[in-house]
Amino acid sequence: MAELSVRSVLVTGANRGIGLGFVQHFLRMPKPPQWIFAGCRDPKGQRAQELQNLASKHSNIIIIPLEVSDPASIKAAAAKVGEHLGGSGLNLLINNAGMVKANILETETLEDMSEVYTTNTIGPLLMAQAFLPLLKKAAQGSPGSGLSCSKAAIVNISSIAGSISSFFGWDIVQGTSYRCSKAALNMLSKCQSLAYKEHGILCVALHPGWVQTDLGAAAGHPPPTTVDDSVQGMLKVLSTLSEKETGTFLDWEGNVIPW
Ligand code: NDP
Repeated sequence: MAELSVRSVLVTGANRGIGLGFVQHFLRMPKPPQWIFAGCRDPKGQRAQELQNLASKHSNIIIIPLEVSDPASIKAAAAKVGEHLGGSGLNLLINNAGMVKANILETETLEDMSEVYTTNTIGPLLMAQAFLPLLKKAAQGSPGSGLSCSKAAIVNISSIAGSISSFFGWDIVQGTSYRCSKAALNMLSKCQSLAYKEHGILCVALHPGWVQTDLGAAAGHPPPTTVDDSVQGMLKVLSTLSEKETGTFLDWEGNVIPW
């Protein structure tokens, strides 16, 4: 199996949970990326402390202020990343930032539905639009004609909760806004895969498992999977993907999830 080997990666929501796990695992790779762009909406805040500590020890971590629900913030982030990269492209965009509201159907509101959709679905859409030139550049600069995550890829961290046919965890948490936002993110991933294939960019929706993070614990039950296991699994899956898998919905163990 080919190793995942990227020169540059951007992870959104990189200051805690699964996003921070990605940063830590990229650092531990035999050949770590030259640039690990860690998107974080409040780099000076308490919740960014661990990421700041890591960045102070590893010069390849660049903390990028990034609020994924704000187009101006996304635009500024793309410009900053472009500056760091000089003339080269961005290999891997991991749209990880996400939020949940543990509402039941009766308590969903316009505000909550909008906020969750904006963060979980529109954020990844705008991110891909803004970083497309850099992703295209990475694809053009890599040898070979096939698709791979080492070349150029958009990875949308979705959830099995957005699977219409699986209704996973309904008895534990309804979270209608979350489920709808992730079902829409799955469709977005498919659309991106169709549109960006000709540019050499692989696109995939990935379920990280039920993971021990603040979001994972929001259901009120202890999640079974550690951040380490989830991220390690996802990176292994990413290393195996080719044009056959673009536009699919997979989990952290490589299983295909029904839409
Ligand atoms: P956490 O709650 O631990 O972390 C969420 C991260 O997203 C934080 O860094 C947070 O930043 C960031 N974030 C939230 N909203 C925004 C925003 N508007 N702009 C920028 N950053 C934002 O969650 P997880 O690590 O568990 O979740 C990561 C992804 O995995 C999400 O997309 C989630 O839906 C998905 N997922 C998680 C599962 C689980 O069991 N944990 C299961 C299935 C999917 P801040 O610290 O500033 O709030």
